[in-house]
Amino acid sequence: MKVYNKMFINGKWVEGTGERILSDINPFTGEILYTYKEASIKDVDAAYESAKAAARVWSKSTIAERTNLFEALIKVVRDYAPVIEECLMLEGGSTLPKRKYEASTCAEMVRYFMAFPSMIEGKLLPSVTPGQHNLVVRKPRGVVTVISPWNVPCLLALKSILPAIATGNTVVFKPSSKTPASGLILAEIFEKAGAPAGLLNVVTGAGSEIGDHMVGHPMSDMVSFTGSTAVGKRIASLAGNKIGDISLELGGNNSMLILPDADLNMASEAAIFGAFFHQGQICMGLNRIIVMGDRYDEFCEIFKQKVSMLKAGNPAEPDVFVGPLISENQVKKFEDIVKKTIDAGAKVLVEGKTDGNLVYPWLLADVTNDMPIARNEVFGPICSIIKAKNEAEAIAIINDTEYGLSNSVMGRDRYHAIQVASMLESGMVHVNDQTIGEEFHVMFGAEKQSGVGRFNGKWVLEKFTTEQWISVK
Ligand code: NAP
Repeated sequence: MKVYNKMFINGKWVEGTGERILSDINPFTGEILYTYKEASIKDVDAAYESAKAAARVWSKSTIAERTNLFEALIKVVRDYAPVIEECLMLEGGSTLPKRKYEASTCAEMVRYFMAFPSMIEGKLLPSVTPGQHNLVVRKPRGVVTVISPWNVPCLLALKSILPAIATGNTVVFKPSSKTPASGLILAEIFEKAGAPAGLLNVVTGAGSEIGDHMVGHPMSDMVSFTGSTAVGKRIASLAGNKIGDISLELGGNNSMLILPDADLNMASEAAIFGAFFHQGQICMGLNRIIVMGDRYDEFCEIFKQKVSMLKAGNPAEPDVFVGPLISENQVKKFEDIVKKTIDAGAKVLVEGKTDGNLVYPWLLADVTNDMPIARNEVFGPICSIIKAKNEAEAIAIINDTEYGLSNSVMGRDRYHAIQVASMLESGMVHVNDQTIGEEFHVMFGAEKQSGVGRFNGKWVLEKFTTEQWISVK
């Protein structure tokens, strides 16, 4: 893999001037891929100054100028698919299906947002004053701060960067310090596509060192953060102090409700993907399966067979579905939750084992909603099965969590399943599918402590722009 040890500020590749040297680590082998100097506060300031200056010009760019950039980006992103895939595997532990999905979806996403520059609308309203008209015009916000996580590092960063830029903003972006190269590859793609200097600036460093400075930066007009609920709460309070707008896409504790008339084979097939894709490290990943009444034992047996067949190992091998967790810390956190859940009385249907950062799939049954696995976002290759007496109890179990990201309902009677879906307290519910899903033209978002604001389609277009009333006499 190419060494990405420089940051991208004002269209130039520069070394960080922070004091600490950080390492980009392969989570499967433990090998240090390369080291880099962290961004200093001065570097972060330089990135914002560059973005602010570029925003003055880009905010006035024409539809054609913006569309041309996106057209060039599509080509470069497609050409970069092998580079993105290699990087996702080496620094992120992504298996073949995960890295192929992410790289190809990046190009699809650029294609979707290419239409945005011509979709921005204003309004013309009548006035209570004779001879006056009221215009409401939609304008870019200015400089958008984008902070993203390591789990789907290219796609989730682009999910904010692309609509921000398409609507006339410029960006200062900090990737996770666990996946810096995935972020810097995006800078290289923008450079190759001929983006003007300062349009996208990428600074690399630990969130704990430079994150607060970015969120509270006087030149940042909005923060788009994707990551954990704990860090999201901190960002919300810092942004609140500044009276700055934010978009927060945070953690989840997602469930599948299996209704009595559900096709259990279909449900277990879907659940395998929902719970174990990217070794369970997906915000919408399936954590709890609630099965009603007398279908519980039957489902446990079918699902157990399927989980036992999953292949875990080196993500470089094409048939491996479960690769390594991102870090040793994550493995320890995972093991702690599993141990405490078993101590609390859960039954082990499939026992995983740990080898370095590689955790083999686990399946727990007879879980109750007060057990650690049901209370927390686990972010590892495990799923839990909970028995519910009836539908009302199943719905109550699903809603009894601080999170509200994505849920799923499985049932042959689709009208009834839709009624049940509407009773679930989550931003998204998928009927007869698992919990991970996204379509760029459809609203994406969460309730409760899983986030604030809506993404994709017209929702993100509105989020990354602001409105101004201009009255005309
Ligand atoms: P995280 O620890 O919250 O980190 C996310 C980003 O925030 C990283 O770039 C991190 O930098 C940075 N950060 C850390 N402290 C900061 C601070 N004080 N100020 C500003 N930025 C700071 O989350 P993660 O472990 O990377 O990602 C996993 C989490 O993201 C899970 O909870 C998952 O559910 C959530 N997620 C949500 C969505 C969604 O759409 N809802 C999508 C994907 C992931 P460092 O890496 O350098 O610490």
